[in-house]
Amino acid sequence: MRVDLTGKTALITGASRGIGEAAARIMAGYGARVVLAARSKSDIERIAAEIGDAALAVVCDVSRYDDVQAAVDATVEHFGGLNVLVNNAGIIDPIARLDQSDPEAWGRVIDTNVKGVYHGLRAGIPAMKRSGGGVAINISSGAAISTLEGWSHYCASKAAVLSLTRAAHAENMQDNIRVVGLSPGTVATEMQRTIKASGINPVALLNWAWHISPDWAGEAIAWLTTDAAKEHDGGDFSLKSKENQRAIGLVA
Ligand code: NAP
Repeated sequence: MRVDLTGKTALITGASRGIGEAAARIMAGYGARVVLAARSKSDIERIAAEIGDAALAVVCDVSRYDDVQAAVDATVEHFGGLNVLVNNAGIIDPIARLDQSDPEAWGRVIDTNVKGVYHGLRAGIPAMKRSGGGVAINISSGAAISTLEGWSHYCASKAAVLSLTRAAHAENMQDNIRVVGLSPGTVATEMQRTIKASGINPVALLNWAWHISPDWAGEAIAWLTTDAAKEHDGGDFSLKSKENQRAIGLVA
């Protein structure tokens, strides 16, 4: 199914590199106006300039509610509304066994990965309602339903994100707001470089060539905005499944 996002506006957190950057470029390619939100000002400004007039860069730390509300407000002010919210920003560092973890750093992962998604939904859903409805896509992980050594913070955070997906969808579907998660499998990004450097668990030992490209995750995000994806609402869509890859058109 061809994705057509003409006339739609998407706000993507964590758009300075990796999956978020790919999603912004791909959705813009499908006709969307895109707002790139992240902390790295020069990176989001460079990517937005490369995309052109259909893109806006907004500096935003998702762990701070005021920043996320300001990013939503800037989106509505600049492009007139909000139709797609991609809660993608996330971190895994520092990787450490729970009994050796630093409590402050553990909490920062929760502030980013869990509160960041909550902040996106809290600020974004009312704006999407005012725009007549929309889709929120929360980037999840297989870590939401399984655990790995050294990842207690990350697994707990992604389990919470899945719970937020379920809750937000149940509360808002009657207002034409869909909420769906994407579990992308392993993706060749900076995050996987951090994981590889840790050497701590089997994911760190995976052959780099097995990771999918960020573009596949970006295509999946774009596809999840379509009506064809509705059956996955309120849960995590896994990009590890060949059937799901086929539905998007990534494999024959
Ligand atoms: P990445 O290349 O490290 O990119 C992470 C992005 O998140 C960056 O743009 C970063 O931008 C942003 N970010 C981090 N903290 C932020 C904050 N406080 N406020 C705003 N933005 C913040 O990693 P990635 O692989 O693309 O990860 C994207 C998402 O996919 C994450 O949620 C991750 O958990 C998930 N995921 C990845 C994989 C994988 O194999 N790569 C697998 C499953 C799920 P700034 O540093 O500029 O703020």
